[in-house]
Amino acid sequence: MSFENDFKFENYTDYFGDTLEVKKQITECKTCGAKLIHSHLSDYKNLIMQETSRCPECGAGNKKIIHIIN
Ligand SMILES: [Zn+2]
Repeated sequence: MSFENDFKFENYTDYFGDTLEVKKQITECKTCGAKLIHSHLSDYKNLIMQETSRCPECGAGNKKIIHIIN
């Protein structure tokens, strides 16, 4: 029973670390580390959401992500 608990805890820790890393990549500029500005454009007619992010400090980090709302 205790072994099973340890196993679950390890999984949770890995997941938590991955989530933090992903969040950091999304929210921080890869060039200067400043927080990126995000803007969302929702197009409910076509069920998509366009997400753009830009760095206010150096102008880098431009990216567009299309989310499909479903
Ligand atoms: Zn930057």
